[in-house]
Amino acid sequence: MPLPTITCPICGAKISHALSHQDFTCAFCHFEHCTPTGSRDQVIPDVINLSQLLNIKRVSTVYIENGQAMPEDGPALNFCSLAPDDRQVEAIWADRVLPFQENLNQFFQEKYHQLVPGGLLYLSTPVKGYFRNPAPLPGQINFFKAKNIMFLLEQHGFKMAWRQNRFASTLKIIARRC
Ligand SMILES: [Zn+2]
Repeated sequence: MPLPTITCPICGAKISHALSHQDFTCAFCHFEHCTPTGSRDQVIPDVINLSQLLNIKRVSTVYIENGQAMPEDGPALNFCSLAPDDRQVEAIWADRVLPFQENLNQFFQEKYHQLVPGGLLYLSTPVKGYFRNPAPLPGQINFFKAKNIMFLLEQHGFKMAWRQNRFASTLKIIARRC
Protein backbone atom coordinates (compact mmCIF):
# COMPACT_ATOMS: atom_id res chain seq x y z
CA MET A 1 0.00 0.00 0.00
CA PRO A 2 1.38 3.47 -0.83
CA LEU A 3 1.83 5.86 2.06
CA PRO A 4 -1.00 8.42 2.26
CA THR A 5 -0.57 12.11 1.44
CA ILE A 6 -2.28 14.30 4.02
CA THR A 7 -3.10 18.00 4.08
CA CYS A 8 -2.01 19.67 7.31
CA PRO A 9 -5.20 20.82 9.09
CA ILE A 10 -3.42 23.96 10.31
CA CYS A 11 -1.15 25.36 7.60
CA GLY A 12 -2.48 23.42 4.60
CA ALA A 13 0.90 21.96 3.62
CA LYS A 14 0.93 18.58 1.87
CA ILE A 15 2.47 15.89 4.03
CA SER A 16 3.74 12.95 2.00
CA HIS A 17 5.20 9.84 3.64
CA ALA A 18 2.80 10.08 6.57
CA LEU A 19 2.74 6.85 8.56
CA SER A 20 -1.06 6.84 8.38
CA HIS A 21 -4.00 9.27 8.49
CA GLN A 22 -3.70 9.16 12.27
CA ASP A 23 0.05 9.55 12.58
CA PHE A 24 1.77 12.45 10.89
CA THR A 25 3.90 15.50 11.59
CA CYS A 26 3.85 18.64 9.46
CA ALA A 27 7.37 19.64 8.42
CA PHE A 28 6.29 23.25 7.97
CA CYS A 29 4.34 24.20 11.09
CA HIS A 30 5.39 21.20 13.26
CA PHE A 31 1.82 20.27 14.15
CA GLU A 32 1.64 16.60 15.07
CA HIS A 33 -1.31 14.19 15.00
CA CYS A 34 -1.10 10.81 16.77
CA THR A 35 -3.16 7.74 17.50
CA PRO A 36 -4.57 8.24 21.01
CA THR A 37 -3.44 6.14 23.95
CA GLY A 38 -5.68 6.03 27.00
CA SER A 39 -9.05 7.68 27.45
CA ARG A 40 -9.91 11.34 27.67
CA ASP A 41 -12.10 10.55 30.71
CA GLN A 42 -8.90 10.29 32.73
CA VAL A 43 -8.08 13.98 32.24
CA ILE A 44 -8.67 15.91 35.45
CA PRO A 45 -10.58 19.20 35.03
CA ASP A 46 -8.66 22.37 35.78
CA VAL A 47 -10.78 25.35 36.73
CA ILE A 48 -8.15 27.19 38.75
CA ASN A 49 -7.94 30.20 36.48
CA LEU A 50 -11.63 30.61 35.93
CA SER A 51 -12.47 33.16 38.62
CA GLN A 52 -9.37 35.27 38.13
CA LEU A 53 -9.98 35.33 34.47
CA LEU A 54 -13.61 36.20 34.48
CA ASN A 55 -13.28 38.84 37.13
CA ILE A 56 -10.78 40.59 34.91
CA LYS A 57 -13.06 40.39 31.93
CA ARG A 58 -16.33 41.01 33.81
CA VAL A 59 -18.28 38.20 32.26
CA SER A 60 -21.48 37.07 33.98
CA THR A 61 -22.29 33.76 32.27
CA VAL A 62 -19.75 31.24 31.04
CA TYR A 63 -20.61 28.48 28.62
CA ILE A 64 -18.67 25.29 29.16
CA GLU A 65 -17.54 23.49 26.02
CA ASN A 66 -18.57 19.86 25.57
CA GLY A 67 -16.51 17.10 27.06
CA GLN A 68 -15.46 18.96 30.20
CA ALA A 69 -16.69 18.59 33.72
CA MET A 70 -18.85 21.47 34.97
CA PRO A 71 -17.04 23.44 37.67
CA GLU A 72 -18.54 22.66 41.05
CA ASP A 73 -17.51 25.69 42.97
CA GLY A 74 -16.27 28.95 41.72
CA PRO A 75 -16.98 32.61 41.89
CA ALA A 76 -20.48 34.03 41.79
CA LEU A 77 -20.92 33.19 38.17
CA ASN A 78 -23.43 31.31 36.09
CA PHE A 79 -22.24 28.27 34.23
CA CYS A 80 -24.09 26.76 31.30
CA SER A 81 -23.38 23.79 29.15
CA LEU A 82 -22.75 24.89 25.58
CA ALA A 83 -25.02 23.41 22.87
CA PRO A 84 -23.99 23.41 19.18
CA ASP A 85 -26.85 25.72 18.18
CA ASP A 86 -26.26 28.28 20.97
CA ARG A 87 -25.73 31.80 19.63
CA GLN A 88 -24.91 35.25 21.09
CA VAL A 89 -22.86 33.70 23.84
CA GLU A 90 -20.63 36.02 25.89
CA ALA A 91 -17.87 33.62 26.94
CA ILE A 92 -16.85 30.03 26.21
CA TRP A 93 -14.57 27.97 28.44
CA ALA A 94 -12.61 25.28 26.56
CA ASP A 95 -10.00 23.91 28.94
CA ARG A 96 -7.87 21.26 27.15
CA VAL A 97 -10.51 20.60 24.52
CA LEU A 98 -8.24 21.21 21.50
CA PRO A 99 -5.94 18.23 22.16
CA PHE A 100 -8.91 15.94 21.43
CA GLN A 101 -10.64 17.75 18.54
CA GLU A 102 -11.07 15.64 15.42
CA ASN A 103 -11.74 18.70 13.25
CA LEU A 104 -9.87 21.80 14.37
CA ASN A 105 -11.17 24.16 11.68
CA GLN A 106 -14.75 23.15 12.35
CA PHE A 107 -14.19 23.75 16.06
CA PHE A 108 -13.05 27.35 15.50
CA GLN A 109 -15.82 28.06 12.97
CA GLU A 110 -18.38 26.84 15.48
CA LYS A 111 -16.97 28.99 18.31
CA TYR A 112 -17.02 32.01 16.02
CA HIS A 113 -20.73 31.51 15.28
CA GLN A 114 -21.61 30.85 18.91
CA LEU A 115 -19.96 33.98 20.34
CA VAL A 116 -21.20 37.55 20.12
CA PRO A 117 -18.79 40.02 18.47
CA GLY A 118 -16.29 40.81 21.24
CA GLY A 119 -17.11 37.54 23.02
CA LEU A 120 -14.34 35.66 24.81
CA LEU A 121 -12.97 32.20 24.14
CA TYR A 122 -10.76 30.63 26.81
CA LEU A 123 -8.43 27.95 25.46
CA SER A 124 -5.79 25.84 27.08
CA THR A 125 -3.64 23.08 25.64
CA PRO A 126 -0.24 21.52 26.26
CA VAL A 127 2.32 22.89 23.81
CA LYS A 128 5.73 21.71 22.66
CA GLY A 129 8.75 24.00 22.54
CA TYR A 130 12.54 24.04 22.63
CA PHE A 131 12.70 23.43 26.37
CA ARG A 132 9.43 21.65 26.96
CA ASN A 133 7.87 18.46 25.75
CA PRO A 134 4.86 17.79 27.99
CA ALA A 135 3.72 14.19 28.47
CA PRO A 136 0.69 13.34 26.31
CA LEU A 137 -2.73 13.61 27.96
CA PRO A 138 -4.67 10.32 27.98
CA GLY A 139 -6.49 10.16 24.64
CA GLN A 140 -4.67 13.16 23.13
CA ILE A 141 -4.49 13.23 19.30
CA ASN A 142 -3.36 16.80 18.49
CA PHE A 143 0.10 18.02 19.57
CA PHE A 144 0.63 21.74 19.06
CA LYS A 145 3.28 24.38 19.08
CA ALA A 146 2.03 27.68 20.51
CA LYS A 147 2.28 29.27 17.05
CA ASN A 148 -0.19 26.65 15.69
CA ILE A 149 -2.86 27.98 18.05
CA MET A 150 -2.08 31.61 17.17
CA PHE A 151 -2.42 30.75 13.50
CA LEU A 152 -5.77 28.97 13.99
CA LEU A 153 -7.13 31.92 15.99
CA GLU A 154 -6.05 34.42 13.37
CA GLN A 155 -7.46 32.33 10.51
CA HIS A 156 -10.86 32.15 12.18
CA GLY A 157 -11.39 35.77 13.19
CA PHE A 158 -10.07 35.88 16.74
CA LYS A 159 -7.58 38.23 18.41
CA MET A 160 -5.59 37.40 21.49
CA ALA A 161 -6.79 39.32 24.55
CA TRP A 162 -4.76 37.66 27.32
CA ARG A 163 -2.08 35.01 27.61
CA GLN A 164 -0.56 33.40 30.65
CA ASN A 165 3.22 33.04 31.04
CA ARG A 166 4.47 32.33 27.55
CA PHE A 167 7.09 29.82 28.69
CA ALA A 168 4.70 27.44 30.49
CA SER A 169 4.15 23.97 29.03
CA THR A 170 0.39 24.55 29.02
CA LEU A 171 -0.74 27.40 26.81
CA LYS A 172 -3.59 29.41 28.40
CA ILE A 173 -5.22 32.06 26.30
CA ILE A 174 -8.27 34.27 26.11
CA ALA A 175 -9.14 35.22 22.57
CA ARG A 176 -11.68 37.84 21.56
CA ARG A 177 -13.99 37.20 18.63
CA CYS A 178 -13.69 40.00 16.07
ZN1 LIG B 1 1.33 22.39 8.97
